Amino acid sequence: MDHQIPFVDLGAARDALGGELEEAVARVLASGWYLLGEELERFEAEFAAYCGTAHCVGVGSGLSALELSLRAAGIGPGDEVLVPAYTWIASWLAITNVGATPVGVEVEADTYNIDPTVLSGAFSERTAAIMPVHLRGEVAALAPILEFASSHGLFVLEDAAQAHGARRDGKRAGSIGGAAGFSFYPSKNLGAVGDGGAVTTDDADLAERVRLLRNYGTRNRYEIETAGVNSRLAEVQAAALRAQLPHLDEWNGARATLAARYDAGFAGNPSIRRPKPPAGSEPVWHFYYVGLDDRDGQRQALAERGIETLVHYPILPHLSPAYADAGIPRGTFPISERLADEVLSLPMHPFLAAEDCDRVIAALLELNPA
Ligand SMILES: *Cc1c(COP(=O)(O)O)cnc(C)c1O
Repeated sequence: MDHQIPFVDLGAARDALGGELEEAVARVLASGWYLLGEELERFEAEFAAYCGTAHCVGVGSGLSALELSLRAAGIGPGDEVLVPAYTWIASWLAITNVGATPVGVEVEADTYNIDPTVLSGAFSERTAAIMPVHLRGEVAALAPILEFASSHGLFVLEDAAQAHGARRDGKRAGSIGGAAGFSFYPSKNLGAVGDGGAVTTDDADLAERVRLLRNYGTRNRYEIETAGVNSRLAEVQAAALRAQLPHLDEWNGARATLAARYDAGFAGNPSIRRPKPPAGSEPVWHFYYVGLDDRDGQRQALAERGIETLVHYPILPHLSPAYADAGIPRGTFPISERLADEVLSLPMHPFLAAEDCDRVIAALLELNPA
């Protein structure tokens, strides 16, 4: 029996770092200082420089980064936020957690990202913000989104949780909207050794408000200026991220090489449907998706061949029990719902061997004779 091909391999990344991760964790332990210290300050400066923004504020998770950005921008009860129907539930939860209302928007069939041409249909006088999600590590169509936002005075929050390092028209994810939320969940393109997240922005006031909110709403531990939360990026996580950030571009490059290998392997097979990155887009391939008939059956057949795959996302936010009260019926977002039924995420991480990638290609070609 051939060896198992895992979906991701965090141990391979740790080993490739040759002890740097262990050294980073040990440095924090040796310092005896675990929260809001030098590692965080340095990581914030380094990640802001990487993204090309003036500010970065580390927080406890990606969800928290999105939530605190919305709060810092003054979005709350009575406000509506436009968000893609096809995304991870966290994008919608960030909006409801600040008391605002998510308004789903259909996605483009080619990129699976929010469709800027249907924004006006979702707009109302209560619309206060747009949250494009850079799904799979592909930056959404931000030029038309920014134009729509500026003509209606809307705040743009990038959900960049899957897009560390991605570019569109030369600009890095996280540096295009009014602010962006990143996640450092361990399997993201840049991952911590636990939970973590960050907000990037050029807006000094917004960054300052997130800084206040993440630490109970206090600057000096006694005076509480606003009802904040406890959502800090721990020193050990900041140190682990600092050890990995210098490798991010190389790792994203390895993902792109694998994506090109999958693309070439599936080219000309109409049963294996692939997203089409638009011109000017440099995705970082957080996931490599294909659309398949009988997705669940093919997933099972791949598992029997030792190939681990995942589904992102079989149950969309508007069809989840979490949003049952909103009463958004099936059929409201036909493209998103079709993707939820047919999309399969194939093994993708910087240390996936070319021959394992070829084994996945061969298995899918066998299951889908052209
Ligand atoms: C991972 C993810 C989040 C949430 O990040 P956490 O760190 O898990 O809270 C938000 N949005 C998208 C699109 C994600 O993939």
